[in-house]
Amino acid sequence: MGISLRLVLGDQLNHHHSWFTEINPEVVYVLMEMKQETAYVLHHQQKIACFFEAMRRFASHIKSKGHRVHYLHINDEENQQKLSTNIAWLINHYQASKFEYQLPDEYRLDKELKALEQSLNVPVNAVDTEHFLSSRKDLEEQLASKKQVLMESFYRSMRKRYGILMDAPDKPKGGKWNYDAENRKPYKGKEALPAHNHPRNKLSQLKEDMVKAGLNYFGEMPEDTVFWPLDREQALQVLQDFIQHGLPYFGTYQDAMKTGNDFLFHSRLSFALNVKLLHPMEVIKAAEEAHQRSPAVYSLAGTEGFIRQILGWREFVRGIYWWKMPEYGESNFFGHTRELPTWYWTGETKMHCLKECIKGSLNNAYAHHIQRLMVTGNFALLAGIHPTAVDAWYLGIYIDAIEWVEMPNTRGMSQFADGGFLGTKPYVSTANYIDKMSDYCGQCQYDKKLKTGAKACPFNSLYWHFYERNRTLLEKNPRIGMMYQLLNKMDTNEKQKILSHAEGLLQNLDKL
Ligand code: FAD
Ligand code: SF4
Repeated sequence: MGISLRLVLGDQLNHHHSWFTEINPEVVYVLMEMKQETAYVLHHQQKIACFFEAMRRFASHIKSKGHRVHYLHINDEENQQKLSTNIAWLINHYQASKFEYQLPDEYRLDKELKALEQSLNVPVNAVDTEHFLSSRKDLEEQLASKKQVLMESFYRSMRKRYGILMDAPDKPKGGKWNYDAENRKPYKGKEALPAHNHPRNKLSQLKEDMVKAGLNYFGEMPEDTVFWPLDREQALQVLQDFIQHGLPYFGTYQDAMKTGNDFLFHSRLSFALNVKLLHPMEVIKAAEEAHQRSPAVYSLAGTEGFIRQILGWREFVRGIYWWKMPEYGESNFFGHTRELPTWYWTGETKMHCLKECIKGSLNNAYAHHIQRLMVTGNFALLAGIHPTAVDAWYLGIYIDAIEWVEMPNTRGMSQFADGGFLGTKPYVSTANYIDKMSDYCGQCQYDKKLKTGAKACPFNSLYWHFYERNRTLLEKNPRIGMMYQLLNKMDTNEKQKILSHAEGLLQNLDKL
């Protein structure tokens, strides 16, 4: 038979993959830390460290089960630092007669592996990752003929398909599919925030390896320690911790933001899910079972709100990615061209909301959804930043950022660069929304009520500037028409003052 090489990528750490059910001495699993994967954008150091450490632990785990493993560390001499050259080298090294891989989740790697397939002179076999709840093409096949691609209809079909929160095959539990109206309240400090019982992983050796390899990165990793779950045991521990302490309030406060607290009641499961240490269905089932067990603690509204994120949004954005790549990565509906203000890399801005969200991201490689969407994303869209620059920032800074999930969220949902394919309207707001959902404005040097003048909150004039400059693209959108009625009714002088104030801000973004 000869040796078969099986590639396990850094986000394919699935303990339950059928590959691992049998131990075969003629199969060599290969995992590789590569400069290629650290350098396609500038990454947060925690992101690089967590991926490498999770890979190392996964390799040790499968080795301990009796599987053969070849692990290429970042500083190994034979490491060619590039996927295709490493594989060619390994095939030669083992005189392998077969190469197998799990379908990658990123277009970039899919392309590289397909090209490699053509150049290798051994048979190649690609298999599923056995992780997702829908296939790459399910969404396209289901919704391509529909007038509008709505997450809601896809999500309902997934609820039915998997029988999640259902009273009968066609009847959602409690009679409603969506309990959003009962969720999304600001957090006023009434309920105690969960004291997360999370792992503390000291990664000094790994950090040394990163430095020795001369990798470029940014962001903080205090005491070389991260609290992200890096193996299956830790991932299960964080899941359990969230179900116990976070889920009871998740729905109610999922859109809330609070100074000094970067996590509130969020699960922090995205890294473990995205590297496949956790299966989405085990997370969904854990939430559903908690609700079944104690509906008084785990309300239907809150549980549904959480399940919707994983069974709905997570699968939906992946479907959009595989439907629309590679063109999606070029989309720029508004033709935005500006660079990111420099303070996106430091958090040094007078705008308290942005300072909080960016500093939190630099410290933890994390921000929760509304911080990403309604603070950093909102500002970038109002300021007309090029979506490619916005994409690169999100892809680099967040621990959970893998392009299949980062790009539709950033370019699509947050920057409306796809012209409304994923979302129905741009997510932009004045200070009003941020003030409603957080305590940020009360601690800001800018005044949330003012539209013009040195103290005016920049969001307030940039908001109207955004609508005015994009009139031809947006005015006919039925979900936005009302904004133009307001703009049209605005006193001409007042409007002019607001627009020229915004112009001034746009010329001086770095100084805000
Ligand atoms: P929770 O709030 O506890 O939610 C539970 C889980 O639901 C998450 O772990 C995640 O798996 C899933 N989920 C929630 N919202 C989404 C969503 N919109 N799309 C897909 N899955 C979702 N998520 C990523 O995993 N990687 C990214 O690179 C990423 N980039 C984003 C960029 C922008 C501009 C925005 C607006 C959102 C992005 N998201 C991304 C979605 C979401 O913000 C994160 O999944 C979430 O903040 C992760 O934290 P958590 O695990 O505490 O999530
Ligand atoms: Fe942000 Fe404006 Fe509020 Fe300041 S006033 S925190 S800049 S929204």
